[in-house]
Amino acid sequence: MNLGYENAVAVVTGGSSGIGLATVRVLLRNGARVALCARNADRLNDVASVLRRDHGEDRVLTRALSVLDAPAVGDFAEDVKAHYGRCDLLVNNAGQGRVSTFAETSDEDWRAEYDLKLFSQIYPARAFLPMLRESRGAIVAVNSLLAYQPEPHMVCTSSARAGVQNLLKSLSVEMAPDVRVNSVLLGLIGSGQWTRRFAEREDKSVSREEWYGDLARRKGIPLGRLGDAEEAANAVAFLGSRAASYITGAQLEVSGGLSRHI
Ligand code: NDP
Repeated sequence: MNLGYENAVAVVTGGSSGIGLATVRVLLRNGARVALCARNADRLNDVASVLRRDHGEDRVLTRALSVLDAPAVGDFAEDVKAHYGRCDLLVNNAGQGRVSTFAETSDEDWRAEYDLKLFSQIYPARAFLPMLRESRGAIVAVNSLLAYQPEPHMVCTSSARAGVQNLLKSLSVEMAPDVRVNSVLLGLIGSGQWTRRFAEREDKSVSREEWYGDLARRKGIPLGRLGDAEEAANAVAFLGSRAASYITGAQLEVSGGLSRHI
């Protein structure tokens, strides 16, 4: 199977860590040039120097910004156009989950969560759409299984993620036939929030394997373990590639079998 990324340009939001960084690496290995953004400039610069060393100076562009800053996202799109002249793939990955029950969630938290989940899709999609139309490209959103299988301890994240799936379906119709729009629905991937929770574990003698294994058992993941960032990245790279040229408005679950619906 040829993913067809040679000479393609991909934009990855939240590309400095976890699933976003793994996606950047997979795309670079498959021949793409990549532009990535995140808020923390120091971490972004550290990541960029390693990526440039491994893949070449001219194949990595970075910008420190929040995807919730619409003018900054617009400037980022202008930078990509000036630097690479095109955009073939937008990966909307930036963000994080919010742990809270209904009783614990304030109005402010609800608004912040809806803002993050929806506008982290809306602003980049709007800014990069002209280039994506021109290249007949694709958008891949990194979303969560919580959209279909809500968890009471992540009440506003679950609800906002369901809204994102609905939005993506509309975009897949409105942007067709020029731009394909798909999503991955993640279960538990051993990056980001899980790395942070592992670091904060009470019993520091418990190894990463033991802690993740116990978590997988408690969550009832049929494959018996958390996913790796690269396993999520591979699914993103497939959906964004020419190999997925007849797939739009679809979602691909990457959860080790965690979903209970058919
Ligand atoms: P990480 O925390 O490892 O990475 C998140 C990335 O997003 C970082 O590069 C971060 O950089 C960036 N980011 C966060 N907020 C913004 C923002 N407002 N603007 C720009 N960049 C931002 O997380 P993961 O790799 O685990 O998660 C990636 C995505 O997958 C997230 O959207 C997450 O919610 C989702 N997801 C993850 C799951 C998991 O089990 N890991 C499960 C379900 C969904 P910086 O902080 O410098 O901005």
